[in-house]
Amino acid sequence: MTMYLTNYHSHCSFCDGRAPMEDFIIQAIKMGFTSYGISSHAPLPFHRRWAMEKSEVSAYLSEFCFLKEKYSNQIDLYVGMEIDYLDEDSNPSNTYFQSLPLDYRIGSVHLLHGVEGEIVDIDGYREGFKDNLIKYLGGELKPVIQTYFDKMMRMIDGGGIDFVGHCDKIFYNALFVCPDLLEKEWYNRLMEEYYDFIAERGMMIELNTKAFDETGFFFPNTKYLPMIRDRKIPVLVNSDAHYPDRINSGLSSGYEALLHCGFREVVQRKGSSWQLKPLYPH
Ligand SMILES: [Zn+2]
Ligand SMILES: [Zn+2]
Repeated sequence: MTMYLTNYHSHCSFCDGRAPMEDFIIQAIKMGFTSYGISSHAPLPFHRRWAMEKSEVSAYLSEFCFLKEKYSNQIDLYVGMEIDYLDEDSNPSNTYFQSLPLDYRIGSVHLLHGVEGEIVDIDGYREGFKDNLIKYLGGELKPVIQTYFDKMMRMIDGGGIDFVGHCDKIFYNALFVCPDLLEKEWYNRLMEEYYDFIAERGMMIELNTKAFDETGFFFPNTKYLPMIRDRKIPVLVNSDAHYPDRINSGLSSGYEALLHCGFREVVQRKGSSWQLKPLYPH
């Protein structure tokens, strides 16, 4: 079955992507992608090696404009940012992020506050997550997971985003600490509340396929796809690419997983709007 060759979550050398923006676009054209969105990590109020600095934002936007024009006959290009929800002050709904001329905004949580107020990265390697949990986050997994989803819900409530990035990604690192997390009653109850909340707010999510080829996991976890389907939450399929040769990583498996779970539609960008399209174009 033919599938859409599109991706709206992609990094480049303006953040922690491993190649210049143009290399991702050239690769997308080479592979027959019809739409491609660049979404570097947005600036944070402090330095992080994986995020763009505020001083680089205008170069990011002008580089994109130049490339959009250059390749306008070959592919539909869009520019976004993956914006962190840190707290009430620093998040995607900020006037600053809302005033940028972006086609769309992805809202994600990669950082939590430690018990002493330190900023703790919960999105890195599993070993690091376990260390951080003990060193900075109080050592108990359950309250950390609750805080993570609470942040996600505050972010969704605050608005200003088009879709949620890797909406349950913490489960992957958490499994390293608690291998039966997905069997825990409290976790499944939390997932019910979380997806109820997303559906009530009319928010879209992505099926993030970045880690699938390596780990066999999507974000959200496949277990919750029926919950998402039943709540009619619109889904995009994105590879969250950091390397040009991985722009289609896991995409076909992502579409198959949606088909297997009875999804009929997927979200695609057309001009200035997101549209629900049949899961497979033919
Ligand atoms: Zn992310
Ligand atoms: Zn990303």
